Amino acid sequence: MSISRSGSQPSSNEPAEYFTGRVRIDPLFQAVGPACTFGVSVTFEPGARTAWHTHPLGQNLIVTAGCGLAQCWEDPIREIRPGDVLRRPLGEKHWHGATLTTAITYIPIVEQLDGKAVDWMKQVSDEQYQAPRANE
Ligand code: MN
Repeated sequence: MSISRSGSQPSSNEPAEYFTGRVRIDPLFQAVGPACTFGVSVTFEPGARTAWHTHPLGQNLIVTAGCGLAQCWEDPIREIRPGDVLRRPLGEKHWHGATLTTAITYIPIVEQLDGKAVDWMKQVSDEQYQAPRANE
């Protein structure tokens, strides 16, 4: 058994080409073959979000702090909060991120297919980001 001590894995910023706004990534665990699953903690500042994307083997996402938004293509935007677990079916086009006023932190657990975890698409426009939310 190994323990990755808090503070032993440096934080970094996500690349601007796939994200809008400030996004920090903190590594948690890497895939060690033949396993292909890895986990990170990702923090989005208010207004920050991913680009539209799909995951070839899906994604499970656990919200740990703050308040955020998630949307699947052609569905309304939904609010997500700590303790919520989002399950993405294979290949479903979606985005996720913070609200306009509140940061969010979540842990995506992602499986890689042939070393690939994400297929990136266009950025989420301001108009798409500020569209009406689902009534829940
Ligand atoms: Mn995703």
